[in-house]
Amino acid sequence: MTRGQGEGLAQWNGEHGFPVRPESRLCCGPTQDVGPQTSCVGANIRTRRGIGAIDDMSTHITGQCLCGAITYEITGEPLVSGLCNCTDCQKQTGSSFSHVVIFKAEDYRQHGETGSHDTRGDSGDMVTRHFCRNCGSPIRSEVPSMSHLAIVKAGTLEHPGDFPPSVELYCKDRLSWLPTLEKVTRYEAGSR
Ligand SMILES: [Zn+2]
Repeated sequence: MTRGQGEGLAQWNGEHGFPVRPESRLCCGPTQDVGPQTSCVGANIRTRRGIGAIDDMSTHITGQCLCGAITYEITGEPLVSGLCNCTDCQKQTGSSFSHVVIFKAEDYRQHGETGSHDTRGDSGDMVTRHFCRNCGSPIRSEVPSMSHLAIVKAGTLEHPGDFPPSVELYCKDRLSWLPTLEKVTRYEAGSR
């Protein structure tokens, strides 16, 4: 079961305000046309159906932080799933990269109030990273120029394994020991 495999790629500019465009330089692997993606977020997905009559036919994806103080529900399919290797994401996650799944902001509903921290991305855009004030889990990011998107930290999803990445950003900061992923389009940064 995979979701977020490419559709909506053009709508995600990374967490840095960088446009991800077909002509972007790829840092590893041959140049390839990543341009309007046709794959298949509708074709190969698991849709969880609600029990109630109102949302009986709707997608229902849930997630939460480590302690449970922050929970969220998503009622639409993912636009794209991706990894970001930038050093800011390494710092914020305390890990080697950030795995995010992008949804329409209008489909994301959060319960509980997050703290946030603003940084300025390479593009000059601000990035607001939301986290649980109690346990510290990163929850999601917001970028003003992409306010229509909810950039959700995949590890907080109930079933993160359902969303393998189709794109990888900031490979210039990628840790050298990480294995190369198949079927992933790689960018050196976000590229302008
Ligand atoms: Zn928490």
